[in-house]
Amino acid sequence: MKIIGVSGGKGGTGKSTVATALAYKLAQNNRVFLVDADVDCPNDHLFLGIKRKLRKKVEQRIPKWDYSKCKKCGLCSAVCKTNAIVSVKGQNPFFMPAQCNGCGACALVCPEKAISWDKKEIGKIYTGSKYDIDFLSGELKVNEPISEFIVNALNKIIDKKKTEYDYVIIDTAAGTHCPVIAALQICDMVLAVTEPTPLGAHDLGLILQLLKKISLKANIVLNRSDIGDEKLIEKLVHKYNTKIIAKIPYSKEMVKRHAQGEPIENEIIDKIIEKI
Ligand code: SF4
Ligand code: SF4
Repeated sequence: MKIIGVSGGKGGTGKSTVATALAYKLAQNNRVFLVDADVDCPNDHLFLGIKRKLRKKVEQRIPKWDYSKCKKCGLCSAVCKTNAIVSVKGQNPFFMPAQCNGCGACALVCPEKAISWDKKEIGKIYTGSKYDIDFLSGELKVNEPISEFIVNALNKIIDKKKTEYDYVIIDTAAGTHCPVIAALQICDMVLAVTEPTPLGAHDLGLILQLLKKISLKANIVLNRSDIGDEKLIEKLVHKYNTKIIAKIPYSKEMVKRHAQGEPIENEIIDKIIEKI
Protein backbone atom coordinates (compact mmCIF):
# COMPACT_ATOMS: atom_id res chain seq x y z
CA MET A 1 0.00 0.00 0.00
CA LYS A 2 1.29 3.39 -0.97
CA ILE A 3 -0.13 6.82 -0.05
CA ILE A 4 0.55 9.42 -2.73
CA GLY A 5 -0.11 13.11 -2.09
CA VAL A 6 -0.87 15.31 -5.08
CA SER A 7 0.00 18.86 -4.12
CA GLY A 8 1.96 21.69 -5.65
CA GLY A 9 1.79 25.04 -3.92
CA LYS A 10 -0.12 27.20 -6.37
CA GLY A 11 -3.86 26.78 -7.01
CA GLY A 12 -5.12 26.04 -10.51
CA THR A 13 -2.02 24.16 -11.67
CA GLY A 14 -3.86 20.91 -12.38
CA LYS A 15 -3.57 18.94 -9.12
CA SER A 16 -7.07 17.57 -9.45
CA THR A 17 -6.48 16.74 -13.13
CA VAL A 18 -3.43 14.66 -12.19
CA ALA A 19 -4.99 13.09 -9.07
CA THR A 20 -8.17 11.97 -10.84
CA ALA A 21 -6.33 10.77 -13.96
CA LEU A 22 -3.92 8.75 -11.80
CA ALA A 23 -6.78 7.22 -9.82
CA TYR A 24 -8.65 6.34 -13.01
CA LYS A 25 -5.66 4.65 -14.63
CA LEU A 26 -4.39 2.88 -11.49
CA ALA A 27 -7.86 1.53 -10.73
CA GLN A 28 -7.79 -0.50 -13.95
CA ASN A 29 -5.34 -2.92 -12.27
CA ASN A 30 -5.26 -1.96 -8.58
CA ARG A 31 -7.46 -1.23 -5.59
CA VAL A 32 -7.56 2.57 -5.42
CA PHE A 33 -8.88 5.01 -2.81
CA LEU A 34 -9.05 8.62 -4.02
CA VAL A 35 -9.40 11.27 -1.30
CA ASP A 36 -10.25 14.88 -2.12
CA ALA A 37 -8.66 16.77 0.78
CA ASP A 38 -9.04 20.18 -0.87
CA VAL A 39 -11.86 20.76 1.59
CA ASP A 40 -12.40 24.46 0.86
CA CYS A 41 -13.12 23.71 -2.77
CA PRO A 42 -13.46 19.97 -3.49
CA ASN A 43 -13.93 19.19 -7.19
CA ASP A 44 -12.58 15.68 -7.91
CA HIS A 45 -16.15 14.31 -7.92
CA LEU A 46 -17.01 16.77 -10.69
CA PHE A 47 -13.95 15.76 -12.74
CA LEU A 48 -14.96 12.09 -12.52
CA GLY A 49 -18.72 12.53 -12.57
CA ILE A 50 -19.06 10.88 -9.13
CA LYS A 51 -22.35 11.35 -7.30
CA ARG A 52 -21.37 11.88 -3.64
CA LYS A 53 -23.30 10.47 -0.70
CA LEU A 54 -23.10 11.88 2.82
CA ARG A 55 -20.96 9.71 5.11
CA LYS A 56 -20.86 11.92 8.19
CA LYS A 57 -21.07 15.43 9.52
CA VAL A 58 -17.91 16.84 11.08
CA GLU A 59 -18.51 18.66 14.33
CA GLN A 60 -16.36 20.81 16.58
CA ARG A 61 -16.92 21.57 20.25
CA ILE A 62 -17.82 25.13 21.15
CA PRO A 63 -18.42 26.69 24.57
CA LYS A 64 -21.84 27.60 25.93
CA TRP A 65 -22.50 29.87 28.87
CA ASP A 66 -24.66 29.53 31.94
CA TYR A 67 -25.22 33.23 32.53
CA SER A 68 -26.80 32.57 35.93
CA LYS A 69 -23.31 31.59 37.14
CA CYS A 70 -21.31 34.22 35.22
CA LYS A 71 -19.84 37.05 37.31
CA LYS A 72 -18.83 39.05 34.19
CA CYS A 73 -15.14 39.04 35.14
CA GLY A 74 -13.95 39.01 31.49
CA LEU A 75 -11.32 36.29 32.00
CA CYS A 76 -12.77 34.04 29.27
CA SER A 77 -12.52 36.87 26.75
CA ALA A 78 -8.98 37.78 27.82
CA VAL A 79 -7.70 34.25 27.27
CA CYS A 80 -9.37 33.65 23.88
CA LYS A 81 -6.64 33.92 21.22
CA THR A 82 -9.09 33.96 18.31
CA ASN A 83 -11.16 36.88 19.66
CA ALA A 84 -14.29 34.72 19.65
CA ILE A 85 -15.46 36.24 22.95
CA VAL A 86 -16.16 39.93 23.42
CA SER A 87 -16.43 41.15 26.98
CA VAL A 88 -17.91 44.51 27.90
CA LYS A 89 -17.71 45.60 31.54
CA GLY A 90 -20.88 44.73 33.44
CA GLN A 91 -22.31 42.59 30.62
CA ASN A 92 -22.39 38.89 29.81
CA PRO A 93 -19.67 37.75 27.41
CA PHE A 94 -20.72 37.83 23.74
CA PHE A 95 -19.67 34.76 21.77
CA MET A 96 -18.95 34.52 18.01
CA PRO A 97 -18.99 30.78 17.18
CA ALA A 98 -17.46 31.21 13.69
CA GLN A 99 -14.18 32.38 15.28
CA CYS A 100 -13.93 29.60 17.86
CA ASN A 101 -11.44 26.74 17.33
CA GLY A 102 -12.61 24.78 20.37
CA CYS A 103 -9.30 25.12 22.24
CA GLY A 104 -11.03 25.04 25.63
CA ALA A 105 -9.06 27.86 27.28
CA CYS A 106 -12.17 29.87 28.19
CA ALA A 107 -13.75 26.99 30.14
CA LEU A 108 -10.45 26.27 31.90
CA VAL A 109 -10.02 29.79 33.22
CA CYS A 110 -13.63 30.49 34.24
CA PRO A 111 -13.59 30.67 38.07
CA GLU A 112 -17.39 30.18 38.25
CA LYS A 113 -17.55 27.05 36.05
CA ALA A 114 -20.09 28.94 33.95
CA ILE A 115 -18.85 27.45 30.64
CA SER A 116 -19.72 23.97 29.38
CA TRP A 117 -19.64 22.41 25.89
CA ASP A 118 -21.88 22.31 22.88
CA LYS A 119 -21.19 21.31 19.26
CA LYS A 120 -21.36 23.00 15.90
CA GLU A 121 -21.23 21.42 12.47
CA ILE A 122 -18.18 22.61 10.52
CA GLY A 123 -18.37 20.42 7.45
CA LYS A 124 -19.25 17.13 5.85
CA ILE A 125 -17.55 14.02 4.58
CA TYR A 126 -18.89 12.30 1.48
CA THR A 127 -18.22 8.95 -0.15
CA GLY A 128 -18.78 7.67 -3.65
CA SER A 129 -17.41 5.31 -6.24
CA LYS A 130 -16.99 5.08 -9.99
CA TYR A 131 -14.58 3.43 -12.44
CA ASP A 132 -13.61 0.98 -9.61
CA ILE A 133 -12.31 3.95 -7.58
CA ASP A 134 -13.47 4.25 -3.97
CA PHE A 135 -13.86 7.93 -3.24
CA LEU A 136 -13.83 10.13 -0.14
CA SER A 137 -14.31 13.88 -0.10
CA GLY A 138 -14.32 16.48 2.67
CA GLU A 139 -16.10 19.80 2.46
CA LEU A 140 -15.80 22.70 4.88
CA LYS A 141 -19.01 24.59 5.65
CA VAL A 142 -19.16 28.14 4.25
CA ASN A 143 -17.76 30.72 6.74
CA GLU A 144 -16.01 28.07 8.84
CA PRO A 145 -12.34 29.04 9.10
CA ILE A 146 -10.50 25.87 10.17
CA SER A 147 -10.23 23.43 7.31
CA GLU A 148 -7.62 21.14 8.93
CA PHE A 149 -10.34 19.75 11.24
CA ILE A 150 -12.00 18.27 8.13
CA VAL A 151 -8.64 17.01 6.82
CA ASN A 152 -7.94 15.38 10.20
CA ALA A 153 -11.34 13.65 10.00
CA LEU A 154 -10.43 12.39 6.50
CA ASN A 155 -7.06 11.15 7.82
CA LYS A 156 -8.81 9.08 10.50
CA ILE A 157 -10.92 7.35 7.84
CA ILE A 158 -7.85 6.79 5.62
CA ASP A 159 -6.02 5.26 8.57
CA LYS A 160 -8.85 2.75 9.13
CA LYS A 161 -9.28 1.83 5.45
CA LYS A 162 -5.81 2.13 3.90
CA THR A 163 -4.92 -1.58 4.16
CA GLU A 164 -7.85 -2.40 1.83
CA TYR A 165 -6.05 -0.62 -1.04
CA ASP A 166 -2.92 -0.76 -3.19
CA TYR A 167 -2.93 3.02 -3.63
CA VAL A 168 -4.40 5.88 -1.64
CA ILE A 169 -4.25 9.13 -3.63
CA ILE A 170 -4.75 12.35 -1.67
CA ASP A 171 -5.53 15.51 -3.61
CA THR A 172 -4.54 18.34 -1.22
CA ALA A 173 -5.46 22.00 -1.14
CA ALA A 174 -3.11 24.53 -2.73
CA GLY A 175 -0.57 26.32 -0.56
CA THR A 176 1.55 25.29 2.39
CA HIS A 177 -0.85 26.05 5.24
CA CYS A 178 -2.13 23.75 7.99
CA PRO A 179 -4.68 21.67 6.00
CA VAL A 180 -2.04 20.90 3.36
CA ILE A 181 0.47 19.83 6.02
CA ALA A 182 -2.24 17.73 7.73
CA ALA A 183 -2.95 15.93 4.44
CA LEU A 184 0.70 15.46 3.47
CA GLN A 185 1.94 14.16 6.82
CA ILE A 186 0.40 10.71 6.17
CA CYS A 187 1.80 10.38 2.61
CA ASP A 188 4.71 8.18 1.46
CA MET A 189 5.56 10.42 -1.48
CA VAL A 190 4.27 13.57 -3.15
CA LEU A 191 3.67 14.66 -6.71
CA ALA A 192 4.15 18.41 -6.87
CA VAL A 193 2.07 19.65 -9.80
CA THR A 194 3.11 23.04 -11.11
CA GLU A 195 3.34 25.19 -14.22
CA PRO A 196 6.38 27.03 -15.65
CA THR A 197 5.32 30.55 -14.64
CA PRO A 198 6.92 32.87 -12.04
CA LEU A 199 4.02 32.30 -9.63
CA GLY A 200 4.07 28.54 -10.25
CA ALA A 201 7.81 28.48 -9.51
CA HIS A 202 7.45 30.65 -6.41
CA ASP A 203 4.77 28.45 -4.87
CA LEU A 204 6.54 25.25 -5.93
CA GLY A 205 9.63 26.51 -4.06
CA LEU A 206 7.52 26.89 -0.91
CA ILE A 207 6.03 23.40 -1.09
CA LEU A 208 9.41 21.80 -1.86
CA GLN A 209 10.90 23.60 1.13
CA LEU A 210 8.06 22.28 3.32
CA LEU A 211 8.44 18.73 1.99
CA LYS A 212 12.18 18.85 2.65
CA LYS A 213 11.49 19.90 6.25
CA ILE A 214 9.11 16.98 6.80
CA SER A 215 11.47 14.60 4.91
CA LEU A 216 8.97 13.67 2.20
CA LYS A 217 10.11 12.65 -1.26
CA ALA A 218 8.69 14.87 -4.02
CA ASN A 219 8.62 14.53 -7.80
CA ILE A 220 7.45 17.29 -10.10
CA VAL A 221 4.73 17.08 -12.73
CA LEU A 222 4.94 20.07 -15.05
CA ASN A 223 1.48 20.95 -16.30
CA ARG A 224 0.87 23.28 -19.25
CA SER A 225 4.57 22.72 -19.88
CA ASP A 226 4.52 24.61 -23.18
CA ILE A 227 3.16 27.92 -21.87
CA GLY A 228 6.07 29.44 -19.92
CA ASP A 229 9.75 29.20 -19.03
CA GLU A 230 10.85 25.74 -17.92
CA LYS A 231 14.17 27.15 -16.61
CA LEU A 232 12.24 28.63 -13.67
CA ILE A 233 11.35 25.12 -12.56
CA GLU A 234 14.73 23.58 -13.40
CA LYS A 235 16.43 25.89 -10.89
CA LEU A 236 14.23 24.39 -8.15
CA VAL A 237 14.88 20.85 -9.40
CA HIS A 238 18.59 21.41 -8.72
CA LYS A 239 18.08 23.27 -5.46
CA TYR A 240 15.85 20.58 -3.94
CA ASN A 241 17.45 17.60 -5.68
CA THR A 242 14.22 16.42 -7.25
CA LYS A 243 13.05 15.47 -10.76
CA ILE A 244 10.46 16.49 -13.33
CA ILE A 245 8.88 13.11 -14.02
CA ALA A 246 6.30 14.22 -16.57
CA LYS A 247 5.41 17.20 -18.73
CA ILE A 248 1.81 17.78 -19.73
CA PRO A 249 1.37 20.28 -22.59
CA TYR A 250 -1.73 22.47 -22.72
CA SER A 251 -4.58 20.57 -24.33
CA LYS A 252 -8.05 21.80 -25.28
CA GLU A 253 -9.16 18.17 -25.34
CA MET A 254 -8.28 17.76 -21.63
CA VAL A 255 -10.21 20.91 -20.72
CA LYS A 256 -13.21 19.61 -22.69
CA ARG A 257 -13.12 16.21 -21.00
CA HIS A 258 -13.02 17.84 -17.56
CA ALA A 259 -15.98 20.05 -18.43
CA GLN A 260 -17.91 16.90 -19.35
CA GLY A 261 -16.90 15.08 -16.13
CA GLU A 262 -14.83 12.50 -18.01
CA PRO A 263 -11.47 11.17 -16.80
CA ILE A 264 -8.24 11.93 -18.64
CA GLU A 265 -6.32 8.97 -20.00
CA ASN A 266 -3.07 9.34 -21.95
CA GLU A 267 0.54 8.17 -22.16
CA ILE A 268 1.77 10.97 -19.86
CA ILE A 269 -0.27 9.55 -16.99
CA ASP A 270 1.27 6.11 -17.77
CA LYS A 271 4.70 7.75 -17.49
CA ILE A 272 3.86 9.16 -14.03
CA ILE A 273 2.66 5.73 -12.89
CA GLU A 274 5.99 4.17 -13.96
CA LYS A 275 7.79 6.59 -11.58
CA ILE A 276 5.67 6.20 -8.47
S1 SF4 B 1 -14.69 33.75 32.89
FE1 SF4 B 1 -16.62 32.84 33.60
S2 SF4 B 1 -17.38 34.28 35.10
FE2 SF4 B 1 -15.80 35.36 33.97
S3 SF4 B 1 -16.95 36.41 32.31
FE3 SF4 B 1 -16.28 34.44 31.50
S4 SF4 B 1 -18.02 33.07 31.89
FE4 SF4 B 1 -18.32 34.86 33.18
S1 SF4 C 1 -12.83 27.43 23.02
FE1 SF4 C 1 -10.95 28.60 22.69
S2 SF4 C 1 -11.30 29.64 20.73
FE2 SF4 C 1 -13.31 28.95 21.46
S3 SF4 C 1 -14.11 30.66 22.57
FE3 SF4 C 1 -13.08 29.37 24.08
S4 SF4 C 1 -10.99 30.23 24.20
FE4 SF4 C 1 -11.94 31.06 22.36
